[in-house]
Formats: sequence, C-alpha cells, structure tokens
Amino acid sequence: MSDVIIIGGGAAGLMSAAVSARNGNEVTLIDSNAKLGRKIYATGNGRCNFTNLSFDSDCFRGSSPEFAYRAFRKFNNYRLIDFFEELGMLHREINGYVYPNSEQASSVVEILLAELRRLSVRTVTDEKISDIKRKGDGFLCAGADRSYEASNVIVAAGGLASPVHGSDGSIYEACRRLGHSFVTQVPALVNLKFKDKKLSSLAGVRLRCGLRLFIDGEPLYSENGEIIFNKDNISGIPVMQISRFASYAVLEKKPVSVHIDILDSYTQDEVYGLIRERIYGVYSGKKTAYETLTGLINGRLLDYMLKSAGINPEKPASRIKPSELNMLSRLFKDFVIEIKCPGDFSSAQVTAGGINTAEINDTMESKLISGLYFAGEILDIDGACGGYNLQWAFTSGYIAGMLK
Ligand SMILES: Cc1cc2nc3c(=O)[nH]c(=O)nc-3n(C[C@H](O)[C@H](O)[C@H](O)COP(=O)(O)OP(=O)(O)OC[C@H]3O[C@@H](n4cnc5c(N)ncnc54)[C@H](O)[C@@H]3O)c2cc1C
Repeated sequence: MSDVIIIGGGAAGLMSAAVSARNGNEVTLIDSNAKLGRKIYATGNGRCNFTNLSFDSDCFRGSSPEFAYRAFRKFNNYRLIDFFEELGMLHREINGYVYPNSEQASSVVEILLAELRRLSVRTVTDEKISDIKRKGDGFLCAGADRSYEASNVIVAAGGLASPVHGSDGSIYEACRRLGHSFVTQVPALVNLKFKDKKLSSLAGVRLRCGLRLFIDGEPLYSENGEIIFNKDNISGIPVMQISRFASYAVLEKKPVSVHIDILDSYTQDEVYGLIRERIYGVYSGKKTAYETLTGLINGRLLDYMLKSAGINPEKPASRIKPSELNMLSRLFKDFVIEIKCPGDFSSAQVTAGGINTAEINDTMESKLISGLYFAGEILDIDGACGGYNLQWAFTSGYIAGMLK
C-alpha cells in the first residue's frame, strides 16, 4: 500500500509525484500510456512553452477563474522556473513565452523523470484505472487485472483534448460515482469551422489582421495576429484564443461569427482612400480591378473580396462604381465569417470545463471525500495560449502534491 497513488503521468501528475515524494511519501504513479509525459513532448511544437512571464486577469478561464489565481499565488511562474532551474534546466524567454533553454520538450520530461527516479517513485505504465473506491480510510484503484491501494489519491488524468496522448476521459465515470460533477467540457485552443463552403477556396492563405468574436450579434473578444485559412476552418493563435468562448456559444446554440479587419492598421476612411487612389489613380490606365489593387493584400484574398463585393476581378478599374468601391472598402475592414462549430477534441490543445472547482478546496483536495485530490486539465480551469495551461497543470500538481 502506498501513501499516494497518482492517476495520470502528464505535467500535473509528474509534478505531484515529485513534490509528494520529496515530502517523504511513498508514491505510485500510474499512467495508461506506455510512456510518461507523452503530451508534454507535443507541446509548443516540440519546444514546450511551459509558462509565461506576463500574467493578467484573462490568463485563466473557467466557471471560477479565481480558483486558479489563488493557486497561482502559492506556486507561480517564477517558482516554476526556479523549480526547473534547481533540477538543472535553464530556461529561455521569447517575447514573454518561456521554454527550456534546449528548446526541447523532452528536456522537461527527462528532468522530471530523473527526479522521480532519484526519489524512488514507483511508476506503472500501460495501466488504465477504471474505478476508485473507498477502502477503510484509504482508496482502492482498479486497473485492468489488479488493484492498487493507497491512503490518498491524486487524479491528474487530463481533459478530453488530444486523446491520442492518453487523456480520454476514462476516469470520469469513477469521479462521478464518487459524487463529483463536471462543468460541461468543450474544445478550447482549437480551430473554428466556418459555414460558408466558398471560403475553402482560401485554404492556405495566411493573414495578419485584427479579429473580433461576435456572439448573438454582440462583439465580445478582440485579438490580433496571424490567422490561417484551411479547407473547412480558420486557425492560428488569435483564433485559438477566442475559441473556448465560441465553443460554449455554439453549445448554447447562439449565432457565432468572426469579424476580420484585413487592414487593421488603417481606419475605414484610410482604407477607402487607399482603394480609391489605386482605382482612379494615374497608373490605373487600362488595368483590371484586380491588377490595380495588387499588392494591397494577399492576392487570393483580394480576388475573393472583389467577388464578394460583386466586382469581377477582370473588370476595367475605371468602370468600378463608387457604390462598389464603398462596399469593397467596408469588406476590407469587416469581413464576416459565420462559425458553424469548433474543431473537435482531437484537434484541440485544451479542454474548457471539467471537475467543478466549487467542490475542491484550495489544497486541491475534494470537499466531498478527504484524501482525494485533483490536478491539471481535469479541473474546470483552462488557460489562454502562451504557456498558461502547462503552468496550471504544474501549479495545481504542485499544490496537490503538498498533501498532508
Ligand atoms: C499539441 C498540443 C500542444 C500544446 N502546447 C502547449 C504549450 O506549448 N504550452 C502550454 O501551456 N500548454 C500546451 N498544451 C496544453 C497542455 O499540454 C495541457 O494542458 C497539459 O499537458 C495538461 O496536463 P495534465 O497533466 O493535466 O493532463 P495530460 O497531459 O493530458 O495527462 C493526463 C495523463 O493521464 C493519463 N490517463 C488518462 N486517463 C487515465 C486512466 N484512466 N488511467 C491511467 N492514466 C490515465 C493519460 O495517459 C495522460 O498521460 C498543448 C496541448 C497539445 C495537445
């Protein structure tokens, strides 16, 4: 019998295991994958953006983001950087985003695994836990062919995003049987699928722009940065940042749209002027509408915009009517994409929703069952893009690992 069983050897579970073993506990870490820390290898495009130097009120989301901010006060980004530094791993900061100095996610996994070996943590892989039951003052966790007994259990089995890395929700029923409830889980940090099939003609176009998410006709969130048009969706960091809000709105059957400002460093009047001076300017001569505006924005997008404004790209520029010019300049500043739904969990980086944090103490212990703890993405906390999700996994894993 162990002092602590940790279910899930991702970022949260590895951190919990190190901390509780340092505190003198006999720890068993169990994971359904053959390899521990599997998702970490995929993070930050293989470079692992494990935290960020900048934190504001929008970094953590959920029904009760304060729950995460209180935890963050106990174990913040600088403590995480120090934690790794003490284990020998240097860090590198790029525009506030923090990576291992090696820029290899494998460094993070290897350094944590080496620490677990030093602390004699028992690790069990290829073992899926399907049930957790009370046994006396402790717990019995059911694996495929055998059970594991411990005085405390930390559930760090992740969300539903990217199930290929092991987080498949297979422990959720057991959590429900223990009395815990889940805030509805939706994909977050994910692409957004559009309704209009015509947009697939833009697949491959990359665009630096401003964008606003409209829910039920109301502008709610603004971002800027590079978006990418794909066959049936738009992606890129600004799209990922607004995606959790879009996911919940779609679930609630509210109309969702993304309004793109293609020339976001110019005002509406300036855009009108830019187009007008090209169309009626001295160089327009015998040029077509498309030719006169070439170089203003991406060529394929320009073709699409001209057609959307009812202008044949081959039409002589001199024949463009003022009303068409007006329409085109408006489209450049407010190109509306109606959203059908978010991409599914397999393409999402994170899960929004999860175990209701109202049922969890600030120590990460269940308010319903003493000795039962939760950490990481399984909880109803998700972070913005930029290292905040790993920070949440490590912060909550650290606090859970401090169990008494
Ligand atoms: C492609 C990709 C890139 C990302 N990049 C970044 C990034 O750069 N920065 C950032 O902050 N975040 C990033 N994230 C998000 C981040 O990786 C996760 O939020 C974080 O790893 C969650 O950690 P976790 O320990 O809570 O869960 P997980 O890492 O999902 O670990 C859960 C573990 O539990 C195991 N498990 C599940 N069920 C059972 C069971 N029944 N029995 C036993 N074991 C079980 C799983 O095998 C898994 O290993 C990225 C995610 C993806 C998919």
